[in-house]
Amino acid sequence: MDRFEQTTLFGQDKTDKTPSGHIIRVAFESGVDSEFDYLVPDKLLPIQTGQRIEAPFRRSNKLEIGFCVETDVSRTETQKKFKLKTISGVIDKEPLIDTGLMELARWISDYYVCPLGQVLAASVPAAVKKGAGEKKEKYVYLAVSPDKIDEAESEVRGKKQKQVVRKLRESGAYESQTAVELNQLLSEAGCTDIPVKNLAEKQIVKIAQRTVLKSLPAIPEGLFFKQEKVILNDDQQKALAAITGRINTGQFAVTLLHGVTDSGKTELYIRAIDEVLKNGKSAIVLLPEIALTTQTIQRFSARFEKIAVMHSGLNAPQRNTQWQKIKAGEANVVIGARSAVFAPLADLGLIVVDEEHEPSYKQDTVPRYHGRDVAIKRAQMCDAHCILGSATPSLETLQNCRTKSRIFSIVHLPKRVMDLPFPEMRLVDMREFASQLISDPLANHLSDVLSKGEQAILLLNRRGYSNFIFCPSCKHILHCRNCDVTLTFHKTPGQSPNRIPTITGRHMRSGRAICHYCGSQTLVPEKCPLCSKGLTMIGLGAQRLEEELAERFPKARVARVDSDSMKGADYYRVLRDFSDGRIDCLAGTQMLAKGLHFPNVTLVGIISADTSLYLPDFRSNERTFQLISQVAGRAGRSAKKGVVFVQTFLANQPAIQFALKGDFDGFVKEELKHRAACNLPPFWRLALITLRDRTFEKLEPAANAMREKIDAVIADGNLQVKVRGPMPAVISRIQTFHRLQIILQAPQPAIMHRLFMTLRKSPPIRPVVDNIAIDIDPVDLL
Ligand code: ADP
Ligand code: ZN
Ligand code: ZN
Repeated sequence: MDRFEQTTLFGQDKTDKTPSGHIIRVAFESGVDSEFDYLVPDKLLPIQTGQRIEAPFRRSNKLEIGFCVETDVSRTETQKKFKLKTISGVIDKEPLIDTGLMELARWISDYYVCPLGQVLAASVPAAVKKGAGEKKEKYVYLAVSPDKIDEAESEVRGKKQKQVVRKLRESGAYESQTAVELNQLLSEAGCTDIPVKNLAEKQIVKIAQRTVLKSLPAIPEGLFFKQEKVILNDDQQKALAAITGRINTGQFAVTLLHGVTDSGKTELYIRAIDEVLKNGKSAIVLLPEIALTTQTIQRFSARFEKIAVMHSGLNAPQRNTQWQKIKAGEANVVIGARSAVFAPLADLGLIVVDEEHEPSYKQDTVPRYHGRDVAIKRAQMCDAHCILGSATPSLETLQNCRTKSRIFSIVHLPKRVMDLPFPEMRLVDMREFASQLISDPLANHLSDVLSKGEQAILLLNRRGYSNFIFCPSCKHILHCRNCDVTLTFHKTPGQSPNRIPTITGRHMRSGRAICHYCGSQTLVPEKCPLCSKGLTMIGLGAQRLEEELAERFPKARVARVDSDSMKGADYYRVLRDFSDGRIDCLAGTQMLAKGLHFPNVTLVGIISADTSLYLPDFRSNERTFQLISQVAGRAGRSAKKGVVFVQTFLANQPAIQFALKGDFDGFVKEELKHRAACNLPPFWRLALITLRDRTFEKLEPAANAMREKIDAVIADGNLQVKVRGPMPAVISRIQTFHRLQIILQAPQPAIMHRLFMTLRKSPPIRPVVDNIAIDIDPVDLL
């Protein structure tokens, strides 16, 4: 509340804003799927949509925070019979959400079947709502005009009070703009705040309060990107001409920029932004979180002056600073991860979504929106252009280019810049080297590379040390207590290498078994809890890879990069060391596959190309293809020829074969056949309903009731929707919650939408369960 009060004290001038009606409509953050009308007392007027308020809510009348989503609400006769409650305060001085973003939030709420209040809550960073890094400061100024001040001063009695008035007169503090900060005034006048308060009571001075936010830089020091002025090659020029042509129509359109890694896509984003800024408009660049490296950020900040960044590496005050900067119109380019799609930029002319196929654009908590799709929607709402960039575009986007060609068009960048050769791809059939983690062919090549002073990246898409801890005699596998998944062994750092357990199975020593879903940890027992025989580990993890490298290449300087070992600054330090040649080989998870440019890397090894193929998800082929293609792009980013080794137990798998040949079109054609045959995206739409509860006896009837209700709605509306389930989710228990799923398939989004509109309006199913999650266009079905 004090945020509002301070504005009435200081610099509050809202006379230019039209006074609003006394009834407003509120969407609460707590996730109730409807909006409520409230009275606003006169003293809290005017109020604008997009401001947060606090009001008594539910039967308990507990104060809760909600967004004002409509003012001047007129009520129908029936509505008038209900007595309205009154809001108790206004939280924000200015609306956090402007009308454009409010419209976007409504669309998200509608399309993704999520309460509006939750969408709004998620579209403003928590740091902004908390006012992170903001400090309140008190200011003092004279409440008497210069022509009357002599008279007023003569009435002041106390010596200290006189001193205060004199100081204020000296600094000409006659209004809020010229006010003197309280503490400064006190030290200058040599007094406590009592004389000032006395003067305030006599209405000779005014004490005001305002919020100040210490400005914090958000672009970390790091690798310096050397900025060379590049001359666009022919393909780039053609692509740019096509894009700017469309930008300059001032109408909404989407361009898919399909270009292999290193084909100069980023350079084109920059040029397209230039064009948009020239027209006096602004731009947003979305990147997957892990691609928001210092290198990438610096590349953009070297080219644009008024840039703001938003990613998870920032602390709360930095985030707040960046957001306020955007809101105040001090930035015209925003670069950030998924949620930067909500950046409060005015006059948006362009949204770029780099690596548009990335599953991480989908948020896995409410609101379960897809960053790319929201970007397209936002662009449409502001008549802006949208560029989707990728070396391996999603099948959804390709399909849009085919079926909505009036809006979506493709531009190709088929070659790497300066005609760099593509790396040579070598398949290693691991059935021949079953007991090895690094096969002999890869190891031999690695030692060659290291002896030439070149660098290598080895990629293993799995954290930890191994993925099963298992008993060879009774076949018992250690599982998480809370979830239906196996535990992953994480070795305690600093263990001597000769104690390393191997795939073939030496016994493990010191370390912890960690669940990657709930994070719970246990010490690993020396003996099997069931039969007391020794335990063994199977599977592989990035940590084990690092150790095997240390064993086989004792002279090589190896560093591991994954989310376990990398915390913010460390990550940048390792990358800098690698870039400067102080590290020879990076071993790690997917983090390494993105956004890095290292010219001296001539070898990339994918330790296991199969990991995602074992997941029971219809997109696993697509993911495998993308992973191999992406990683391949890391090798040979210079005149030196690169080699990529792909180790796999599934050498004949089509996704792997196509990826090895770099045959994107072939892969797409093959994959689309399967998708069409099974009514899967990109042809049909999917929705996933996941119900969870600790008590299975409650969960099952609830899931069945949900199914019945869905069937009834389908029959009623004669909707073309296929329903499967309820069935146990692939991970049937997480954090002690059982999970049942219902999968829906519809040929058109509009049909799915109709189904959910009806479900949303109908009374809740019984028995009530802990949670029902609705995921529209899910990216995985786990
Ligand atoms: P992508 O985003 O497709 O991976 P980038 O735009 O990052 O490609 O380009 C890869 C590298 O080539 C970068 O170092 C970039 O500065 C450089 N580059 C881009 N276009 C050109 C060009 N026309 N001539 C020379 N270098 C270029
Ligand atoms: Zn768990
Ligand atoms: Zn056992």
